Amino acid sequence: MIAENVAKIRARMDAAARKAGRDPREIVLCAATKMNDAGRVREAIAAGIACCGENRVQELTAKLADRAYDGASVHFIGRLQTNKVKQVVGKVDLIQSVDRPALLDAIEKEAAKQGVLQDVLLEVNVGAEESKSGYAPEEVDAVCAAMERFPHCRVRGLMAIPPVSQKSGDNCRFFTEIRRIAVDITAKNYHNISMEILSMGMTDDFEDAIACGSTMIRVGTAIFGARDYHKQPTYGGNNHGTDG
Ligand SMILES: *Cc1c(COP(=O)(O)O)cnc(C)c1O
Repeated sequence: MIAENVAKIRARMDAAARKAGRDPREIVLCAATKMNDAGRVREAIAAGIACCGENRVQELTAKLADRAYDGASVHFIGRLQTNKVKQVVGKVDLIQSVDRPALLDAIEKEAAKQGVLQDVLLEVNVGAEESKSGYAPEEVDAVCAAMERFPHCRVRGLMAIPPVSQKSGDNCRFFTEIRRIAVDITAKNYHNISMEILSMGMTDDFEDAIACGSTMIRVGTAIFGARDYHKQPTYGGNNHGTDG
């Protein structure tokens, strides 16, 4: 079931990339593994998933202890409280959801303490939604310009979750805006900043995201099936896919 789903998504990714004149190999499929236990994560990795994105610190910690992600890289993609950075910094390959100055400060401090270089993405609240976190599009440039003050963090690109769309095509303008920000920042050649990863697109809109320049899609439902938010959580904690 998981293997079939992964194969179907890859076929759709390939078709979307080719239609946009892009090389399908430029686009990474990151499995959003929240609420899926270690066994299902292993099944996804056996089916060729090379990147897992986790939302909640508690699940991350439990699955790391289970060695559930062996064979794949691990990303943190959920809202991260500053008092939990210790459990994430140095334990994941990429923190995709750096959404505010206080979090960047906390990550820098922890990475310095551990003596590691932590790769991060800046999360952009591209739809200016009250309910979502992230930097405003117009703030991103200043954050990148100031990254010299964060020598233990390396910005590798941007992440965005646009508004829930009603129909296909609706979110193209948001994806295109993220790409435009990335192009502008790349042109400035800031020290230690790259914009190689544009993490955008989920189950409902990944083909549009690929058409508009995404280099990483984060897919949960289309790989694992619908999440049952009424079920007792496998790893405890709240059941809302975030940590805050
Ligand atoms: C759950 C989640 C996804 C995947 O969502 P689906 O619609 O199930 O594909 C992607 N990104 C983040 C940050 C998520 O929390």
